[in-house]
Order: sequence, then structure tokens, then C-alpha cells
Amino acid sequence: MKTMIKFRPKQQVEKFAEEVANEVVDRLKRTVYVKNLNHGTDENSNYIRQWETYKGHKATQCANHDCRNEKNNPTLVGAHVIKSEGEDKSWYICPLCSKCNSDANHDDMMVNEIDLAPYNEIKDL
Ligand SMILES: [Zn+2]
Repeated sequence: MKTMIKFRPKQQVEKFAEEVANEVVDRLKRTVYVKNLNHGTDENSNYIRQWETYKGHKATQCANHDCRNEKNNPTLVGAHVIKSEGEDKSWYICPLCSKCNSDANHDDMMVNEIDLAPYNEIKDL
């Protein structure tokens, strides 16, 4: 995110505002609601590694946008989730902290679509 905009000419400020707005809209468009499938925690321990192999980078934080648990040093698991809305009923794996992945959590969670890995494509990695 760029800073120091206050001395820029009006046109540049407007362009900057448009860029920021587009970035926010893009991010919102990739936001999806998911539900925990409560598929057991023991076998989830491998799915986080498979998720990382599939994505090519480490999982660093809980994908739930509203998560307030263990933000700094979360214990992440590869959780089985399903989209709450729309026709797509396939299973996905996404990184969640152990609290968000708890069997007691039946809430819809807002996540970024890029944090979802298709279960069918990663289960054999
Ligand atoms: Zn969480």
C-alpha cells in the first residue's frame, strides 16, 4: 500500500484512490463463505502440509478473516471446508487455527478464495 499522498496533485490522488478501491473490490470478489466439515482433527495434521505443497508456500495464519485466536503464533491445521453459498459443493482444504477448526464451530467463516485448495487435487500429494 502506497503512503504519502497528501502533497500529490489532485489527479494523482484520484488515481491513487481508484487503485485502492479496485484493490479492495478485487479482494472482496475473491471472498467466499465456508463452513467447517468437522472431519476430525487427527488426520487434518497432514492436510496442512499437503496444502503447503499444493500452494508452494507455508501457511502462516488462520484463513478466517474474523479469527481473533492465536494470531501471532497459531497452531494451524488443514481443515476440511465446504462453500456455504452457491452450486459448488466440493470439499476444500484451508488453513485454520485449532479454535476455528473446532467441532463446536458451526459458523460461516469468511475466507479468501485463494486460501482454498481443492480436496480432490491435494489428497494424494
Ligand atoms: Zn482461526
